[in-house]
Amino acid sequence: MEEAAPLVAESATRSGQVHIAIAGGGLRATSVLRLLSDVDNLVIVAVYDSNRSAPAIRLADDLGIFTTTEVSEFAQLMSLDLILDMSEDKSVRATLESMRPSSVEIVSAVGAELVWDLLIAKKRSEEQEKIFVELQVAYDKIRSHERRLQASKEALEGANGELESRLAEIFFTHEFFKALTSYSSVEDVASLIVDGANGILGAEISCVYLFNQEDWTLHLRASQGRPEDVFCPVVSVSETLLGTAFRDGPTQQSDVPQGSESARWSRQPEDIRSQAAIPLRAGESIIGVLVLASSTYRELTQAERDRLQVIGNQSSLALQNALLHEELERLSVTDRLTELYNHGYMQQRLEEELGRAERFGHRLSLIMLDIDDFKSFNDTYGHPRGDRVLRTVSEIIRQNLREIDVAARYGGEEFVVVLPETDIPGAIAVAERIRNSMAQHGFATGEEDGTVAQTVSLGVATFPTHAANAARLIDTADRAMYAAKRQGKNRVTVAS
Ligand code: GH3
Ligand code: MG
Ligand code: MG
Repeated sequence: MEEAAPLVAESATRSGQVHIAIAGGGLRATSVLRLLSDVDNLVIVAVYDSNRSAPAIRLADDLGIFTTTEVSEFAQLMSLDLILDMSEDKSVRATLESMRPSSVEIVSAVGAELVWDLLIAKKRSEEQEKIFVELQVAYDKIRSHERRLQASKEALEGANGELESRLAEIFFTHEFFKALTSYSSVEDVASLIVDGANGILGAEISCVYLFNQEDWTLHLRASQGRPEDVFCPVVSVSETLLGTAFRDGPTQQSDVPQGSESARWSRQPEDIRSQAAIPLRAGESIIGVLVLASSTYRELTQAERDRLQVIGNQSSLALQNALLHEELERLSVTDRLTELYNHGYMQQRLEEELGRAERFGHRLSLIMLDIDDFKSFNDTYGHPRGDRVLRTVSEIIRQNLREIDVAARYGGEEFVVVLPETDIPGAIAVAERIRNSMAQHGFATGEEDGTVAQTVSLGVATFPTHAANAARLIDTADRAMYAAKRQGKNRVTVAS
């Protein structure tokens, strides 16, 4: 109780404790007693009032403090530092003044008021401080609850986000597998696979390469993440990560060394920081490679590698089906011996091209070709050599055509060439080139170094000049071809 210290005699404070007696047992004295009894370094040694049942006397009794109703006894107490006179009784004051030991101070009237006010003020500030501390504690509790709430809210949001992305992935995966079974062209399936790698595994770059057995190369069929010309269209199976996957199975490189040969399936290998590839298997054989790559460091987790494997397995099946479908389709329109289109496919394409020529007002020409004296060639050199002639004719025809032209084996040793957007002089030029190439070509006879020429006759007809529909056009070209035969063979004749 620092505020009260100046009121106390020096001798008393030196002992460390201040011994106080209170005179007067009224309500104020009771309050002071209650307050002072809580204060460290203060000892209330006695309370006086003439009335034994005064409130302060009763409280002192309860607290085990000495009490007296005799003012003279009270005034002469030993080892006392201070008497607080709250009796408001002049005679009590006079007695105390006259009888007290010289070391005892008496504080009364104004002094007692002051002590009272100081005690009240201290009590208030203590209470305020207590309230403040309580508020602080409550505030801290609220803050910590709030933080916990915020943390659980964030955890919930995180879990929700995770759930949503897992759901989106599951949905995408489901759609992906569903689409895989419904796509039938190799191009579509390959595109779907690279989209799947992006959608399911978040692959920045992905490519599907298909295996070409003839020259042991891998051919790009679909890509995603960069313009298509960034990727090498053909990669040898002995090279790059694709070759590794093809030979050894699934492989991944999280940190591709700069300038590494393994990333050279891309024409910008410095762009590739991480890459992974898996073979696409159909039974025992490998039909291609799926490669994923990223320009930043990325290591596929076990779960991601598992997913990649599932994508690969499912894709391989769909891809194999599409390849079979494509092969069947190709076979169904292709002549086995010459690998030109067959009669049926030529008819269909001729109708389409005529329709287009009609709509756009274009010309369209048709060449009918027949090998000269082929029966006697067969008779002389044998059927197998005759077949070789048929293949050579086909090759020469192919070499003289544009992308949009359609060449077909029409019958045994007869061929048809459809030339869209080509007029009579244009068609004659093509026919002449074919005729000439044939006439120049020497066919082995089987006798030592012996070769023999084998000529062809060609008839040309043009839409709409010579005929208005497909059947008439073929017929007209056929007649022109027979006219060439009649005129001596090894020539080109235009329909009249
Ligand atoms: P022309 O100059 O009048 O056309 O006489 P040509 O002997 O070529 O005519 P023809 O129609 O009489 O004979 C066609 C021959 O083509 C009959 C057949 O031996 C031969 N031929 C048809 N298809 C094939 C085939 O697939 N392979 C072989 N080697 N010969 C075939
Ligand atoms: Mg014939
Ligand atoms: Mg013939």
